[in-house]
Amino acid sequence: MIDAEKLTEEFGCLVFNDKVMKDRLPKDIYKAVHKTIEKGTHLELDVANCVAAVMKEWAVENGATHFTHWFQPMTGLTAEKHDSFISPTEDGKVIMEFSGKELVKGEPDASSFPSGGLRATFEARGYTAWDPSSPAFIKDGSLYIPTAFCSYGGEALDKKTPLLRSMEALSREAVKMLKLLGYADVNRVSTTIGSEQEYFLIDKEDYKLRKDLLFTGRTLLGAPATKGQEMEDHYFGVIKPKVSAYMHDLDEELWKLGIPAKTKHNEVAPSQHELAPVFETANIAVDHNQLTMEVMKKVADKHNFACLLHEKPFEGINGSGKHNNWSVCTDTGMNLLDPGKNPGENTPFLVFLMAVIAAVDEYAPLLRLSVASAGNDHRLGGNEAPPAIISIFVGDELSEVLKGVEEGNAYHSKGKVQMGMGAEVLPHFTKDNTDRNRTSPFAFTGNKFEFRMPGSAVSVANANIVLNTAVAEEIAKIYAKLEGVEKDKLNEKIAEVLKETLVAHKRVLFNGNGYTDEWVEEAAKRGLPNLKSLPDALPYFKEKESVDLFTKHGIFTKEEIDSRYEILLENYSKSIHIESLTLQEMAKKDLMEGLIAYQSDLLEEATGKKALLGEKSATFEIETLKAIDEAQGKMSEAIKKLAADTTVAEGKTEVLDQASYYQKTILADMDEVRKYADAAEALVPDSYLGYPTYGQMLFSL
Ligand code: ADP
Ligand code: MG
Repeated sequence: MIDAEKLTEEFGCLVFNDKVMKDRLPKDIYKAVHKTIEKGTHLELDVANCVAAVMKEWAVENGATHFTHWFQPMTGLTAEKHDSFISPTEDGKVIMEFSGKELVKGEPDASSFPSGGLRATFEARGYTAWDPSSPAFIKDGSLYIPTAFCSYGGEALDKKTPLLRSMEALSREAVKMLKLLGYADVNRVSTTIGSEQEYFLIDKEDYKLRKDLLFTGRTLLGAPATKGQEMEDHYFGVIKPKVSAYMHDLDEELWKLGIPAKTKHNEVAPSQHELAPVFETANIAVDHNQLTMEVMKKVADKHNFACLLHEKPFEGINGSGKHNNWSVCTDTGMNLLDPGKNPGENTPFLVFLMAVIAAVDEYAPLLRLSVASAGNDHRLGGNEAPPAIISIFVGDELSEVLKGVEEGNAYHSKGKVQMGMGAEVLPHFTKDNTDRNRTSPFAFTGNKFEFRMPGSAVSVANANIVLNTAVAEEIAKIYAKLEGVEKDKLNEKIAEVLKETLVAHKRVLFNGNGYTDEWVEEAAKRGLPNLKSLPDALPYFKEKESVDLFTKHGIFTKEEIDSRYEILLENYSKSIHIESLTLQEMAKKDLMEGLIAYQSDLLEEATGKKALLGEKSATFEIETLKAIDEAQGKMSEAIKKLAADTTVAEGKTEVLDQASYYQKTILADMDEVRKYADAAEALVPDSYLGYPTYGQMLFSL
């Protein structure tokens, strides 16, 4: 366990961070690397050679024998292939070597990663390229080097490349705008992200007994426990000792890797928890979130838990998300979404706020599809999660500010209000200008926006790629209207453009309860899209507006869009296909075995009782038998239909058509099987079931 007093030393002890570089690299080399990181300039090979040698020395001192280029292919997971540092010498021994070339470039066989038609299988070559802006680290005896992954033709095959491109696009447009507004000293703007990670912990033995959790990450059947989350006793509740020990261990592992894990607490659903880090630059935050998910699972295993990251592991209780806190910060230290003391007169803030509002309204379908996955679709639109409709919550104070913009009279802050709690002994403090809204999918939270739709299991790269690019585009549009305006007319013109932008996009603003049916109706009246599933949302990716946006800012080529479109749809269909097969198997074998055994015992019991006590006895046994038999029969019928339809789904060749069929037909068939399976399961004692029930899984820790 990390000694609390040593934490500041231990933090990041496995990371090749700025301090290590400063201490170990020659001054000119350090400067060159720094320039690359800060300004995104190209790195020369002699510099890379020197960095590689120093990196290897440091890694070996810290117990590493191997290195790996670590990348994020479009499976949504991370990938790695390890090479040792050894190089044989003539005397039959080895030396440890690592060259600049090995640091900068890798050549993994790319043919087994999804490419959506960007590369035929015979063109196996792919490249990984070192991303110096995300620090290398040591894990399990290997030096991990964060890299971007592309095809032989240079097309991005990963999530990091477009994220970096989108950060640069936003920086480019923002810097231009800020210079126009008189901030001549700003040279770079970076996106900052803090992603709150939700997860479930269950007993490892329980996990191993459930094929659905093992193969699909979520339970495909299971009657609800008699207790759910209705008592509201888990959120922020006392953390149980076993879970607390896990969280301690997890924090320590993350801290060693330089991941600033900050907050931990119980979430709303039983057995659900959350970890939030301190925000970081987008690229590093995304890498760190991928690592966090991996470490969560690894540490869980050590504690005899299974960590479930699926968006909807259990029916009937809350699912898990990954709230994406997002802001933009200049290299001069200005948070562009900080309203400051006088938001009504804070021009950069108003311009960026308006750009975000316009971006979210105009590109809502792209934001929706950036968070679409087979897993997350179960969560979005459920009554606990943000709805599939995208709207923005700005809160009371900003609503006033925006009213001022629309009416042309600058809003003056009322200043902070003192909080009085009615007891003198309690401390006095000022209260926030905005209350919280937990139902909004996109909420202003003081000095950042919180996008709450991303799912817990997937990388937040996609969401931020869309967000960065859409905001870059809106800033560019505002810039185009202000460019060339005479200095003494600029303020007037800015007011006019802000008003115009607000009027065009204010339909996306909504401060009310996003979980109500009234909002669904109201949103439809406002013309806001309500895209419930991945196959509904994905066609927008290929529309002209989207292709224009991404190609204009250099985020995706048309071919890269096409390939991602294919991959997303294929993954979606494959996920549901596996779910269908798993559900059929569990229902036919694991559940059926229990049903048959219990019915056989009931039958024997009833026959015996009748012989002894007469015809009128054994009413419970007989009623239960009848009820199970009825559910069992209906379940068998439903399984037959699911099996037949799954064969039809498999035969479909067009990706969108296939995905839509899985969504509309197979998911509905699975619900039908589940309905009867759960009805039958509810009648059977736990001891007859070959797998743990909801009650066992959710309440046994
Ligand atoms: P809550 O969501 O409960 O309001 P916090 O205010 O603690 O929680 O913030 C949640 C997350 O937002 C944290 O990960 C935090 O680091 C992150 N965050 C705070 N400021 C910024 C910022 N400027 N940019 C991006 N993320 C931020
Ligand atoms: Mg939050």
